[in-house]
Amino acid sequence: MSRVIDLRSDTVTRPTAGMRAAMAAARLGDDVFGDDPSVNTLQAAVAERLGFEAALFLPSGTQSNLVALMSHCERGDEYIVGQQQHCYRWEAGGAAVLGSIQPQPLTQQADGSLLLADIEAAIKPDDPHFARTRLLCLENTIGGQVLDPAYVRDAQALARRHGLGLHLDGARLFNAAAAAPGEVLANARAICAGFDSVSVCFSKGLGAPVGSVLCGSHDFIARARRWRKMCGGAMRQAGLLAAAAQYALDHHLERLREDHALAQRLASGLQGIPGVQVQAPQTNIVFADVAPARSAGLIPYLKEHGVLATGLYRLRFVTHLDVDEAGVDRAITAVRSYFCEA
Ligand SMILES: *Cc1c(COP(=O)(O)O)cnc(C)c1O
Repeated sequence: MSRVIDLRSDTVTRPTAGMRAAMAAARLGDDVFGDDPSVNTLQAAVAERLGFEAALFLPSGTQSNLVALMSHCERGDEYIVGQQQHCYRWEAGGAAVLGSIQPQPLTQQADGSLLLADIEAAIKPDDPHFARTRLLCLENTIGGQVLDPAYVRDAQALARRHGLGLHLDGARLFNAAAAAPGEVLANARAICAGFDSVSVCFSKGLGAPVGSVLCGSHDFIARARRWRKMCGGAMRQAGLLAAAAQYALDHHLERLREDHALAQRLASGLQGIPGVQVQAPQTNIVFADVAPARSAGLIPYLKEHGVLATGLYRLRFVTHLDVDEAGVDRAITAVRSYFCEA
């Protein structure tokens, strides 16, 4: 059998030859002393290109979000967040456990947004009975969907009226940016506008092996640097990794549209299969609901046929740098044969 088609996540990519060459050639220093030129260049480039004063390179998106929350909030403060957002649900409760920050999760709408009325109702008055509501966190893309820019502006205005800070979990910021026409970087900068901080993953669709960058003001990033140290995220010759992220920033933004086109191809191929209900993808993630009666055997069947995916009743397929049209077509064929056999 030919190689495995891994659609479990866009985190599974291996560095390309060009990226490995950039890593091998990276100039290095000790980043804890602030001496690593490749880290410094990356941080300056991301900050400048996304419209922030400063930026910080961290080992993971989880740590980047945690450090952001700890830099915005103090012990006994509270952040408002969606039930399904990564920095509430998928980060092992770090903000509460390590940051002593209380989450105020809200139910999300189908498009990933939080109702403005729900946000407003969740903001606590200044009263010793309550945690101090300090921060609103949004995520873009969220479940592969792009937040409506008009909604984001309204949510930002609401947060500002109440004196809240604003953090964007932009793990897949550049996928949101690539979903609109025009230059990806310019779109990304527009999506970041109005937020105090943004966290971006380089180890997802951008194809780097490791690393996230947190952006904010000089003061904010100075606080974040101390929290990063406390969390164990200060690395030494980290330029080896920063060079990979830099390569991705310079070479892999516009190509995200190829991943989005592959997701479209996958969705249309799955659409006609009886027992499968496909949600039209906006970016690189395809969700497909399968009839409960047939769901249990599907993932193992796909695996036997060289296709990896996740989910049970709701399958998730993520396209990325290491899949192509032939791979997507094999995935479609495998799903079809599962539902059409037996
Ligand atoms: C993946 C992801 C993260 C965390 O990134 P890791 O590098 O896996 O820790 C944070 N937020 C969102 C929305 C993500 O998809």
